[in-house]
Amino acid sequence: MTSFLLSGGRIVDPAAGTDETADLLLRDGVIAGIGEGLDGKGAETIDVSGSIVCPGFVDLHTHLREPGREDEETIAMASGAAAAGGYTAICAMPNTDPVADNAAVVEQVWALGREAGLVEVAVAGALSKRLEGKKMADIGEMTRSMARVRMFTDDGHGVQDSLFVRRAMEYLVAFDGIYAEHCEDASLAEGGQMHEGERSAALGLRGVPAEAEELMAARDIALARLTGCRLHLLHISTAGTVELVRRAKADGVAVTAEATPHHFSLTDATLSDYDPNLKVNPPLRGESDRAAVIAGLADGTIDAIATDHAPHADHEKDQEFLYAPPGMLGLETALGLAVTNLVEPGHLSVAALVERMSTFPARLLGLDGQGSLAEGSAANVTVFDPAAPWTVDAEAFHSKSRNTPFGGMELRGKVSHVFYRGTRTVSDGRLMSEALV
Ligand SMILES: [Zn+2]
Repeated sequence: MTSFLLSGGRIVDPAAGTDETADLLLRDGVIAGIGEGLDGKGAETIDVSGSIVCPGFVDLHTHLREPGREDEETIAMASGAAAAGGYTAICAMPNTDPVADNAAVVEQVWALGREAGLVEVAVAGALSKRLEGKKMADIGEMTRSMARVRMFTDDGHGVQDSLFVRRAMEYLVAFDGIYAEHCEDASLAEGGQMHEGERSAALGLRGVPAEAEELMAARDIALARLTGCRLHLLHISTAGTVELVRRAKADGVAVTAEATPHHFSLTDATLSDYDPNLKVNPPLRGESDRAAVIAGLADGTIDAIATDHAPHADHEKDQEFLYAPPGMLGLETALGLAVTNLVEPGHLSVAALVERMSTFPARLLGLDGQGSLAEGSAANVTVFDPAAPWTVDAEAFHSKSRNTPFGGMELRGKVSHVFYRGTRTVSDGRLMSEALV
């Protein structure tokens, strides 16, 4: 295994409180030292002055379409897209076909991730069998499997039955598991195509009110308080939900939350031409919601930036807005959107960005060797230039699908090098092809 001396970068590791200009030595797959005058004998020196050197990003929310929809994306291709985006770990959502509601499927996904070898693939298990919200999935079996599942969710659906939620939470407490919710009251959201507001009225599309998300967030917070279960709210998108989480945290409830780059970058105002790439669930909200999500990320109410990366085949996305499935790609644009829309305007420091994209997600999932540059820990490292401008080109994505509304957008913040367990997966902004074999 090659050794690398990353020279002259700004080392940002929120877990250790490090934010200084120094060298970082990676040797035999682990972090061998941070400082000046390190013994880099035999190591390849890479000049990273002007760049940020931080623990590799960890995505809490990735839809890997395998098993079942390999025409949209394989685990190997998603791993490539993730590495190119600066990630060293991703967490697969369970809404595959078959659903990841038992040990066999979560182990299959985990093993395919290991085989691809470009990022660590953690797996979220389903809460209910076939995501139906009725019968509990094989939660105990999944926690004891090779995939060591820690987070459980029926993402794609909100769990409608409150008694089921209570029982699942009570059960998860015994495993120190995390109950993760896609907050959406199905009856309020039914038939909704976008955020309910002036824009939906103008376009003549049925809207999903903010309350569809907020009601379920409030219920789950109440049940987390009752049961003592750890609750993680996926892709929160409204001002009301941000305030609910803020208050629950102040009250000592064990709740955390994530937000996506598209929810802090776009609003429903961009939906003027019925572009199906702008159809997401939860939908793009109004400007006051977007501002509240940004404020939540800034004050720590929202703990993580998660992509909700959701590949769709062209033939499915290239149809009328009404019939197009919701979801957009996220892994290769997350950093650029976060730097451009959060760091550059002064909402988030670089250290807070790294905390939301690496430190916290690694801690939530309990991933050893991720989210930290501590000496002796696995060398999962990302280097990015926060000032580098680039233009989003969907054709250059490593993802198998092309569904992004960000094509042609000018962003700042570009990944230059990524190391996964000491192996270089990205060099000078290019995915290393030999790492793909
Ligand atoms: Zn979801």
